[in-house]
Amino acid sequence: MAEISTTPTSIATVHGYPRQGPDRELKKAVEGYWAGRVTAGELRGVAARLRLETWRRLADSGIQEVPTGDFSLYDHVLDTTVMVGAIPERHRAAVRADALDGYFAMARGTQDVAPLEMTKWFDTNYHYLVPELGPDTTFTADPAKATGELREALALGHDPRPVLVGPITYLLLAKPAPGVAPDFEPITLLDRLLPVYAEVLAELRAAGAAWVQLDEPALVQDQPPPVLDAVARAYQALGDLEGRPKILVCGYFGHLGEALPILAAGPVEGLALDFTGPGAANLDLLAGAGGVPGKRLVAGVVDGRNIWINDLEASLATLATLFGLAARVDVSSSCSLLHVPLDSAAETDLDPEVVRWLAFARQKTDEIVTLTRGLTQGTRAIADRLSDNRADLASRANSPLTHDPAVRAHGAAVTAADTRRLQPYAQRAAVQRARLDLPLLPTTTIGSFPQTAELRVARADLRAGRIDAAAYDERIAAEIREVLAFQEEAGIDVLVHGEPERNDMVQYFAERLDGYLATQHGWVQSYGTRYVRPPILAGDISRPEPMTLRWTTYAQSQTGRPVKGMLTGPVTMLAWSFVRDDQPLAETARQVALALRDEVADLQAAGTAVIQVDEPALRETLPLRAADRPAYLAWATEAFRLATSGVRADTQIHTHMCYAEFGEILAAIDDLDADVISLEAARSHMQVAHELAEAGYPREVGPGVYDIHSPRVPDVEEVASLLLKGLDGIPAERLWVNPDCGLKTRGWPEVRTSLDNLVTAARKVRAEI
Ligand code: GLN
Ligand code: ZN
Repeated sequence: MAEISTTPTSIATVHGYPRQGPDRELKKAVEGYWAGRVTAGELRGVAARLRLETWRRLADSGIQEVPTGDFSLYDHVLDTTVMVGAIPERHRAAVRADALDGYFAMARGTQDVAPLEMTKWFDTNYHYLVPELGPDTTFTADPAKATGELREALALGHDPRPVLVGPITYLLLAKPAPGVAPDFEPITLLDRLLPVYAEVLAELRAAGAAWVQLDEPALVQDQPPPVLDAVARAYQALGDLEGRPKILVCGYFGHLGEALPILAAGPVEGLALDFTGPGAANLDLLAGAGGVPGKRLVAGVVDGRNIWINDLEASLATLATLFGLAARVDVSSSCSLLHVPLDSAAETDLDPEVVRWLAFARQKTDEIVTLTRGLTQGTRAIADRLSDNRADLASRANSPLTHDPAVRAHGAAVTAADTRRLQPYAQRAAVQRARLDLPLLPTTTIGSFPQTAELRVARADLRAGRIDAAAYDERIAAEIREVLAFQEEAGIDVLVHGEPERNDMVQYFAERLDGYLATQHGWVQSYGTRYVRPPILAGDISRPEPMTLRWTTYAQSQTGRPVKGMLTGPVTMLAWSFVRDDQPLAETARQVALALRDEVADLQAAGTAVIQVDEPALRETLPLRAADRPAYLAWATEAFRLATSGVRADTQIHTHMCYAEFGEILAAIDDLDADVISLEAARSHMQVAHELAEAGYPREVGPGVYDIHSPRVPDVEEVASLLLKGLDGIPAERLWVNPDCGLKTRGWPEVRTSLDNLVTAARKVRAEI
């Protein structure tokens, strides 16, 4: 590539690093502390050592400015709640008695006190603890964690940059505290919060911080004018402070949109922008705003959310464009590396050819350092790295894994007709009614039954070779028989096999589809001490053989009642995996949909009359900007229909989604053209049933009447009254009776009573209408 003019000033940095440690030491220490095996002092020791090792690793690999404060014992938003003193009333006593135990009480609750609510961190699979604020909230600064970690890094000789959640994002992520009017807007507390940030900034300056980073990812979402005004006010106020460190405002997971010119015109000294994925639009926005003359620009050119190697030459070209637009350009990841696993070199079970394509946190760090060297010393200094990178990219682009001609041909042959069922819903409903012969208000469940300790032991025994496949299969078959017997006895109308063979609803299918890879050590934090190993959707997807047929047909052979086939939908298969970045998501979704379509056809041919395709992720992967949503919903719903439209009229397609807030996707739900949809509704008192009714939703609905997120058993009266509420909006011919979600996290005793009550309530209401 052409030599670019060098700049001696660029440095390499990252916005954050995985917290877990190479062997998930943090999880073990925190859980050990909860169990009483590890003392508070030992836990703090492990945490300090992990921070030290991370900084040393970053510095050794050439990262010049290391982040501090991004480490957390549980969650960085909870740390911010502590930093600004917004401890909920119900947790104050615990926090006063012992700060560490109080911290974990907010995260996990105690016998007597509920934890903070947990929700997804933007469109990632990380979950944060939601701040609870109200008109009476007062803030007080508690900078101890921020200054303490800064001092640690300084003492070790590093050049640290403390990273904090910014004030606007903190308030926008908060919700009204219990007892506060639901229309209370936490952003109205900004003027009260800013002095606390001012104090923390002053303390960090006093402790030796030259720069402090304030993360404002909420600004990559569409924000109304009052919020944009708040951004201007907040950063003017913080900028006007005396004796403060320099401020770097960081937006990630997309472009800053209207907030960009506001921040560019304000007094902060630096902006950190995401130039990957939807963040690429920052380039034009920045140019349009005339750049950020006089400011520092930290360019996130290495994607912090996927696990693929960077195209180094493309990144260098982006960086070269940015030089004219800022006083100084530094190189970084697009966001914290929290969302990727630690080290692809640990994946010794993967084909080395494929490992070349992968970049986890360690490899991404090296890429950032290489790009920085290219900027400061000229591309000749990194010529070897560039040629290796070209070869690795070519290896991926030309691999049979990423280009399977049969899959490509199959995909190209899809026509619009393949994505539509032949008969309109009304016709289908009539033949399905005749075939299934169900009572009014039919009862069913969402799929999984309790994943008992015995099942987990059996799976571990199989992996360790203590039992053979035949013994494991017999264990699964026995469980299925038990689950069926219980359902028959309870009087449930449409049965499930209980999913005992599935460890996880995505991993199970990923393991059975060609084109998917599994990692050994690819752990990423989901929340607190919970880590997941998302599969990698690396290549063209195909189904070498049926995936669910065996257990579904086995279950059907054991009972005269209909057993639902149970599949995970294409959108969810993508959402809970690391996905390809070398083709549009729509293309990847279509490949998964075609594999599922074949599975659906096999199930139908084997006599399965009801097939459920779960899409709990349809809502959660909704793009952060409204402008990107129509295109997403178009391919997402089309993939679902492609998977499910190949069936006869008398095969009933169900779908299932969790979580509330369906408002924005009501039209998309209709567009799925599923015959029946089950949704989470128990906690919101069937609100979704009414939303669907108001929107004129024409098909069958099963709003959940049993909240499966707690061990609480709903009684008959409660279920019956929810059903009557549902009947307010949805006619009896189209209302199903089911729990909110799968039962795999629950225990058998509570499940038995709850489902008995559910059936009794359904019978009672049937008799009354
Ligand atoms: N069929 C799955 C189950 O019952 C659905 C889980 C989900 O929606 N998250 O567990
Ligand atoms: Zn669910």
